Amino acid sequence: MTLSPDVPHHTVVVIGGGQAGLSASACLKERGIDHVVFEKNRIAHSWRTQRWDAFCLVTPNWQCRLPGFPYAGNDPDGFMLRDEIVAYVEDFAKRVGAPVREGVGVTRLAKSDDGRFRVETSQGPVAADAVVLAISGYHVPKIPPAANRLPDSIVQVHSSAYRNPGQLPAGEVMVVGSGQSGCQIAEDLHLAGRKVHLVVGSAPRCPRFYRGRDAVAWLDDLGQYDLPVDDHPLKEKVRKNANHYLTGREGGRDIDLRRFALEGMVLHGRLVDIIGGTMTFKDDLAQSLDNADRVYNGICGLIDKHIAESNVVASEGRHYEPVWQPAPAPVELDLVASGITGIVWATGFRSDWSWVGLPIFDGEGYPIHKRGVTSMDGVYVLGLPWLYTWGSGRFVGVGRDAGFIANHIEERLASRKATAAPMKVAV
Ligand SMILES: Cc1cc2nc3c(=O)[nH]c(=O)nc-3n(C[C@H](O)[C@H](O)[C@H](O)COP(=O)(O)OP(=O)(O)OC[C@H]3O[C@@H](n4cnc5c(N)ncnc54)[C@H](O)[C@@H]3O)c2cc1C
Repeated sequence: MTLSPDVPHHTVVVIGGGQAGLSASACLKERGIDHVVFEKNRIAHSWRTQRWDAFCLVTPNWQCRLPGFPYAGNDPDGFMLRDEIVAYVEDFAKRVGAPVREGVGVTRLAKSDDGRFRVETSQGPVAADAVVLAISGYHVPKIPPAANRLPDSIVQVHSSAYRNPGQLPAGEVMVVGSGQSGCQIAEDLHLAGRKVHLVVGSAPRCPRFYRGRDAVAWLDDLGQYDLPVDDHPLKEKVRKNANHYLTGREGGRDIDLRRFALEGMVLHGRLVDIIGGTMTFKDDLAQSLDNADRVYNGICGLIDKHIAESNVVASEGRHYEPVWQPAPAPVELDLVASGITGIVWATGFRSDWSWVGLPIFDGEGYPIHKRGVTSMDGVYVLGLPWLYTWGSGRFVGVGRDAGFIANHIEERLASRKATAAPMKVAV
């Protein structure tokens, strides 16, 4: 593919105007590297449009550490609400003076014959020496194909399109998936007085507060957010792990599905199939709840050990003891007969990199990279979960990763300049 000389050129093209793309912009600016950020929607689009009305951060505000722009509000231990998060990201973009072109989508990325990158955008092609893909990994809502077999009378929404309980018709609601989003949406519906069914999967859970502090603060002290992926016992497989469930709602609290069950929520095992209007579930609810509690208590144990070893003064804490046990339950449910009128699919997302015409992907379509530096010279990824550490896909770690990538780009530019310089011949 050839680039005509009149195609505009930037040293670096950053794709995505969320916190990752803006962090890249901040770090490139700091190093005086020319760049542009293409954002196909608006800055902070995902926070703005893919979160429910009562959404708040699960991670405490003090973990919002965008480069040169740490959280500066008066509630560092609190959890920003959706609109406050959008404002934080927008203010960051302003502070950086990020050269963001909103409403410009990148439709194709390819290598040109002259060694540069050809970035096709909705407003024409651009040439670049390097590209940073900061588009997260959450692209297309993942809903099991069997959902097509459900009766039309049941309203279905994906978690990214869920806004509030009023969006779903009167009647009982099924939430499928017990990761962070599923549990919080189930709680949102439950608090609104809706009868909720929750399909529980393998997600682990974490205490909100333990021994006088937010567990996230203890985990931070323990270095958990600095542990590189290569040092994690699961190595790169950890990238596929579900997030722990807990909430920042109303100052933060645990999410205890057993307590919800005592209060009337109906818990089911993992979804197996949907035939007609009947869902079938695995008989694994007790096991999933036990596993989540085991992780919860494992985290408590880690904190206890840390306190004991470092002689920190801390209040007493209690490990979790189950307040409810599931009774043997039918593994089939006729949704309409049970009064279920709506389903929220909290079943995650899949990635779509199909427009990236570069050989940087493994057999599963995941970009091959080390700390964001991909297998192709000049191509970088940023903002992916566990790109480098636990915090990489979040506010806490994306800035560090952006700094690393910007350093790499700076060194690459310097070495190219040195190679291109005319050779001095000694006489
Ligand atoms: C439900 C949920 C809750 C979360 N809670 C927390 C939390 O409590 N704390 C925390 O730290 N993190 C949390 N995260 C993780 C993370 O902070 C968010 O996913 C965040 O939005 C990631 O920022 P990003 O910039 O990497 O990606 P995004 O915010 O998704 O930004 C990517 C941008 O790229 C744009 N884009 C995509 N393709 C193109 C293209 N081809 N051309 C141009 N632009 C394009 C999109 O429009 C989008 O604006 C949560 C994530 C989810 C899904």
